[in-house]
Amino acid sequence: MFREKIVMVDLKGQYERIKEEIDDAISSVISSTSFINGPIVTEFTQNLQRFTGTGYVVPCANGTDALQIALMALGLERGDHVLVPAFTYVASAEVIALLGLTPVMVDVDPETFNISIDSLKASCTEKTKAIIPVHLYGHSCDMEPILEFAKQRGLYVIEDNAQALGADYIFSDGRVCKCGTMGDVGTTSFFPSKNLGCYGDGGAMFTNNLELAQKLKMIANHGQSVKYTHSIVGCNSRLDSIQAAILNVKLKYLDQYTASRRKAANYYSCRLSSINEIVLPAEKEYTRAVYHQYTIRVCDGSRNELKEYLAQKGIPTMVYYPIPLDMQEAFKGVAYCNVSLENSRKLSEQVLSLPMHTELSESVQEYIVESIIEFYGRN
Ligand SMILES: *Cc1c(COP(=O)(O)O)cnc(C)c1O
Repeated sequence: MFREKIVMVDLKGQYERIKEEIDDAISSVISSTSFINGPIVTEFTQNLQRFTGTGYVVPCANGTDALQIALMALGLERGDHVLVPAFTYVASAEVIALLGLTPVMVDVDPETFNISIDSLKASCTEKTKAIIPVHLYGHSCDMEPILEFAKQRGLYVIEDNAQALGADYIFSDGRVCKCGTMGDVGTTSFFPSKNLGCYGDGGAMFTNNLELAQKLKMIANHGQSVKYTHSIVGCNSRLDSIQAAILNVKLKYLDQYTASRRKAANYYSCRLSSINEIVLPAEKEYTRAVYHQYTIRVCDGSRNELKEYLAQKGIPTMVYYPIPLDMQEAFKGVAYCNVSLENSRKLSEQVLSLPMHTELSESVQEYIVESIIEFYGRN
């Protein structure tokens, strides 16, 4: 056993380093009693808009609401098909079904874990109205071909950017955009363990279209633009002031946090490169990834055994995600699919995410790496 407890995500250690600033920020919201829609929400929203370089940021209650509101704002109609990867967190597809739209499951690329362009093209029919690319684990989808295809077919693009806030996408002409700012709408989550996490729930939507921004804002606020005048059916989805105050402090450190994650990822990749049984996460030339997760693929069928071995050594690991969405009970008879989802299936059996956070020390990583090497040496 290692001398300290090893965790997947170290929210406590991260808090300790900025405790004073965070506590002050929370106190000042409490003193102001402006708990909902306080000035700090506007301030944070503006700072996030500057950070991402997007036209407009609309805050909301969580990343799932962000996706739902985005779909509502685009005016999709019952029965419309929305393409979504089968290998992602449930929220990406759940909101499609919730709105009476049809989630169409698309396969992913085994190397990047992200939506496969070929599978996406093969899945598109007359009924298809939108695509939800998910920047999984902090690695950008290859957006250029997705945006081109969407334009050709007149499809909306909603980027699920819950895991890749701060990641870059580099277009073939060298233009660089932050993930979440390239589609019609981008969405993100401030769930505590996300790259920019608050101390509760939070989310936001990004768009470069003023009209769409106004609509997103209206839907998140009961469909009203003037108080007590409701022009469309909306919902109640707010980022509260305390969360905004915390996020406003943490946003200043996001680049630093990303640098820590990239350094930790680099350490893993250097030290694990000689193990033939595992495939390390690739970083494609078109992105600068933010390593929400560091996810290896165990190709010799020993994933669960390795997980158990590491657990015995006090090393937590996670399987994101053990069941592809098309195989989930909830989507039986709801989701539609006309391609092979072989890669999604395979990945759900192979992936293993190692501890990844902003406070990882080299001695902890050394212990993790040695333990993995030991496991394969022993076999
Ligand atoms: C976390 C997450 C969401 C949902 O965010 P919440 O804030 O938990 O609602 C959606 N999509 C992906 C890919 C996520 O990782």
